[in-house]
Amino acid sequence: MKEYPMILQELGSAIPGGRVLEITTTTGCIVGCSYCPQDKFAHRQRAVSHVKHLRLEDFKRCLARVPTSVDISFAGYSEPWLNPDCTEMVEHAYVRGHGIRIFTTLVGMKGRDLHRLQALRSRVFVVHVLDDGAYMNSRLVGDKYLALMRQVVDTDIASIRFIVLGEVHPDIAGIIPAEALVRARPLSSRGGSVNPKVVEPRQPVVGALTCVDGRQYRNVLLPNGDVTLCCMDFERRHVLGNLLRDEYADLFDGPVFSEVINRMDGTDGFLLCRMCEYAHPKASAC
Ligand code: SF4
Ligand code: SF4
Repeated sequence: MKEYPMILQELGSAIPGGRVLEITTTTGCIVGCSYCPQDKFAHRQRAVSHVKHLRLEDFKRCLARVPTSVDISFAGYSEPWLNPDCTEMVEHAYVRGHGIRIFTTLVGMKGRDLHRLQALRSRVFVVHVLDDGAYMNSRLVGDKYLALMRQVVDTDIASIRFIVLGEVHPDIAGIIPAEALVRARPLSSRGGSVNPKVVEPRQPVVGALTCVDGRQYRNVLLPNGDVTLCCMDFERRHVLGNLLRDEYADLFDGPVFSEVINRMDGTDGFLLCRMCEYAHPKASAC
């Protein structure tokens, strides 16, 4: 469940800036949104690791290396609650003192998980509402899902926001108050990874560029401890290091991150950012 750029644009100031570590709790996502290249992620990830779910113990080991000034975002390249330990991971990060961000479709979440999440103050809680089947697997909308959605709507989580890409599933439409729902549409090609019939890739940015949100500092932890550049890097094009082995600061001192920064400054070589909707050409000094 991604921190979608289109969601972030729509939600604007509701999403704070700063350094973030997104957590991909599992490899593969049954929600199967057609605007999401998670199948490409799963394919690439399985080629390097057989770890499906991020283990709770590994999550704790990785987090022990991350300064508490870094927000922990349960988003990543799959729906976070497809990992049964997700709620415990959230609680662990919260108790350590991290700001918490949650982006979820609710698929895999249980009523008791929601009760536990209510007890902590998340900085961001975005519910990605299932659509009418145009882009998402609408068979996931059953009685349990609807009951949980009602429970979420009635919750007192101050940061909660609802968003749909396209049209809301008809069974959900009457549950979420219209004024609480942000409507958007798929706009990001994920650096060219999304099926071009769903989202057309942008023209590549030539020369020096900047990431408008500084997302080179909003990285993604994978189930085997690897850390990729950002929410666009579904295909593991820039792996900065591994938090089961490296310190957090090492991620930004290593050769891969240096290469990314040099290429953002205009050096030749593959750079995911060139195809990314977040990249803007850097204004020339002269
Ligand atoms: S729920 Fe999120 S990760 Fe899963 S397919 Fe949809 S957008 Fe991708
Ligand atoms: S511009 Fe680069 S760092 Fe920024 S979101 Fe896109 S791919 Fe990631």
